[in-house]
Amino acid sequence: MITSKLPNVGTTIFSVMSQLAADTGAINLSQGFPDFDGPDALREALCRRIMDGFNQYAPSAGLPALRQQVAAKIERSYGRQVNADTEVTITPGATHAIFCAIQAVVRTGDEVIVFDPCYDSYEPSVELAGGRCVHVQLKDGEFSIDWKQLGAALSPKTRMIVINTPHNPSGALITREELDRLAALIRDRDIYLVSDEVYEHLVFDGVKHVSVLAHEELYERAFVISSFGKTYHVTGWKTGYLIAPPALTAEMRKVHQFVAFCGVTPLQWALADFMAACPEHVEELPAFYQAKRDFFCDRLQTSRFTFTRAAGTYFQLVDYSQIRPDLNDVEMSLWMTREHGVASIPPSVFYQSPLPGQRLIRLCFAKREETLRLAAEKLCAI
Ligand code: PMP
Ligand code: GLN
Repeated sequence: MITSKLPNVGTTIFSVMSQLAADTGAINLSQGFPDFDGPDALREALCRRIMDGFNQYAPSAGLPALRQQVAAKIERSYGRQVNADTEVTITPGATHAIFCAIQAVVRTGDEVIVFDPCYDSYEPSVELAGGRCVHVQLKDGEFSIDWKQLGAALSPKTRMIVINTPHNPSGALITREELDRLAALIRDRDIYLVSDEVYEHLVFDGVKHVSVLAHEELYERAFVISSFGKTYHVTGWKTGYLIAPPALTAEMRKVHQFVAFCGVTPLQWALADFMAACPEHVEELPAFYQAKRDFFCDRLQTSRFTFTRAAGTYFQLVDYSQIRPDLNDVEMSLWMTREHGVASIPPSVFYQSPLPGQRLIRLCFAKREETLRLAAEKLCAI
């Protein structure tokens, strides 16, 4: 009998809910992915690159052309000049980048602080490195850092803190003041930071994303991670990148070269081609997704769900206390999928200790208007 190295891990909620949506014919607002395609020019570039013979291994760190495009975008967005050779690594997805960053620095017995609700890949990655996650709950309702709890969680064993902004599942954003406070808190300690910023371009209401890339002090100890999947509507391309100072990048690349060696070559060419041809794509994204958020939320206004519009990401949390307070969120998600034809994600799966009274579900609005209209009609009828 094999003894599992990850005894607490089962099939992720994303696979479970997407499968249930497919089996029941429900509208799938669970797993986060668009039901529309990436830009034509991007997909055409991929076809062209494949047919033109760009089908062998890429350099392990990623195609120089794509790393340069990423560096140029970072300078435009955050004013930081990163070195495309020594600070930018292209990875097969953000999940892979997170895994490699954690393996690169976390050792047996180390502690890693994560904020609940937290993305499901962090903890297994820490455990496989021999570390242990210390869970700090974000403040109920507003999903901001609870500084007292964070201070209490720090220990001589703390090796890393993982932050996620814009935050999945709440859409909450970390502010510049919070980054300053975090920097002060860990200033004299040997602690690294993973900043998961995969939704960096999905920030609404005129607010600007505050990236760790724009924070001099924190960047010195940070791995900043993003995903082309979110930014270019191609989650199935599983391509992301990691930015870190040269010494951290070198360590992360040692892991990356033996987990994957490199990302998929023609995808990297297509992304480089598209970023060069359409640098304005990222500037248009906030308005594009804000319109979807508002289209959806406007139609939910007459429902019995209550909510505060998401500040970022393509997820909307809604409170169902007025509908089925008797159900916990897993039961609610299953019931809504089976009985009302809309699949969602129960946020309790992002917690080590779910909050017993919390009555929230997460709905993905990265969908065509027809999908959102139909889903909202069904939700209003509950
Ligand atoms: N981090 C967060 C917070 C996410 O929501 C996702 C979405 N899948 C990822 C990381 C992983 O991104 P990728 O699909 O590029 O691995
Ligand atoms: N990040 C996506 C979400 O939160 C799912 C990614 C996955 O399926 N692993 O819905």
